Amino acid sequence: MAEKKKTFKFNFILDSASCMACAACELECRDGGIYIDDNANYAINADSCTRCGRCFRACPAGAITRVNNPAA
Ligand code: SF4
Ligand code: SF4
Repeated sequence: MAEKKKTFKFNFILDSASCMACAACELECRDGGIYIDDNANYAINADSCTRCGRCFRACPAGAITRVNNPAA
């Protein structure tokens, strides 16, 4: 049986234009939420992200922001 998908009240988004590719977010993330997309930019997979905020706090460039999820 399919597990009901958890809906979070907010998402973390990564602005690749501000990202310095330092890898801090990737090293901090324990849940496989950070990946490298087809354009070789760091990105956040909202399906595996647990909204722990570790990447958000670790990013030295302010490239990760917290936004409300209008669907929640
Ligand atoms: S909020 Fe947490 S789980 Fe989500 S991408 Fe950032 S470090 Fe990973
Ligand atoms: S921590 Fe910030 S600057 Fe570093 S790779 Fe992640 S998003 Fe980019």
